[in-house]
Amino acid sequence: MMKVLVTGGAGYIGSHTAVLLIEAGYDIIIFDNFCNASLESIKRVEKIVAQKITTIEGDVRNRDDLHTVFNKHKIDAVIHFAGLKAVGESVEQPLKYYDNNVNGTAVLCEVMAEHGCRSIVFSSSATVYGDPHSTPIDENFPLSATNPYGRSKLFVEEILRDLYISDNRWKVILLRYFNPVGAHASGTIGEDPNGIPNNLMPFIAQTAVGKRDYLSIFGDDYETHDGTGVRDYIHVMNLADGHVKALDKIENFKEVMTINLGTGKGYSVLDMVKAFEKASGKKVPYQIAPRRSGDIAKCFADPSYAKKVLGWEAKKNIEEMCVDSWRWQSNNPDGYN
Ligand code: NAD
Ligand code: UDP
Repeated sequence: MMKVLVTGGAGYIGSHTAVLLIEAGYDIIIFDNFCNASLESIKRVEKIVAQKITTIEGDVRNRDDLHTVFNKHKIDAVIHFAGLKAVGESVEQPLKYYDNNVNGTAVLCEVMAEHGCRSIVFSSSATVYGDPHSTPIDENFPLSATNPYGRSKLFVEEILRDLYISDNRWKVILLRYFNPVGAHASGTIGEDPNGIPNNLMPFIAQTAVGKRDYLSIFGDDYETHDGTGVRDYIHVMNLADGHVKALDKIENFKEVMTINLGTGKGYSVLDMVKAFEKASGKKVPYQIAPRRSGDIAKCFADPSYAKKVLGWEAKKNIEEMCVDSWRWQSNNPDGYN
């Protein structure tokens, strides 16, 4: 049985991926410093899979924390979710982002190599495409960044490519996520943002459940079918499954693999509001607000490479995304608290 270290495994995407990894027969260890998660998410995962999960509190920037894990366990591969992800905060505190995301990954890889573990699946993002010249976006589009968060993802991609060039025993898969939403069908785990959500879906869900008065829609004058921003929303369980497929194949790949994980479909903010109202039976009041700085009009994936190389495809539609997100939000109005 392959032993997998899941950094950031207590977080939103990590916890959902943990469920599918265990169901697929992987032996997992969760490593998280709980800066943006709680132990409760892991308890809920344990309930879903009906087994205990080895969980270690530690920081990927801390060599001692990592050595402790690698000394104790023979780890075959790492799925590296641990990182900070708030774009606005990254503009205010760039060094915090470069330290956590870039330095954290460098330290992790160094310790991995010392223990002879050279397989890593990394959480990259569609943000590395910057403002794309057209859609759908394939993996060969030019890369750029408009904020420190995005730049940290770009840097890590480059670092992992350099690592492979220096020693081609490394197995590296860079997964570029589009917009993960939704929750496990049990409604017991989901996205639990700190404070006021930055992202659309949790903001809509909190508005529907009555925690927020109204949604501000950031701009209705974009070049899109209704003027509001278009994104590729992907169900988090489909995204999680992409990681299982990546791990299944990682030993076979002979080069660094860079793969979009998206659905290939773009929905506007207003499309999402309507779909959520239908799924929840609740009104989502909104107001049109100015554009948010750094936002782009349209972003959706060409997901064909993932299908070709991983045999993976995102199958859940926006109704399922909204229904599952609503089940989580309405059963847990205050998240894990
Ligand atoms: P999340 O904040 O829910 O999960 C990240 C987890 O990492 C948290 O549990 C946090 O406590 C942990 N963590 C952070 N820094 C750490 C450190 N130094 N050491 C150990 N643990 C640490 O976020 P998520 O949405 O699950 O995202 C997971 C990954 O996917 C991140 O790298 C993120 O940048 C990337 N990503 C997310 C999205 C998205 O929209 N959610 C999109 C693209 C890429
Ligand atoms: N958005 C919005 N109001 C919000 C949050 C987001 O109108 O409160 C819009 C945003 O402008 C973008 C889309 O929703 O067009 C998705 O934003 P999100 O922050 O979720 O993801 P990203 O910008 O990273 O694609």
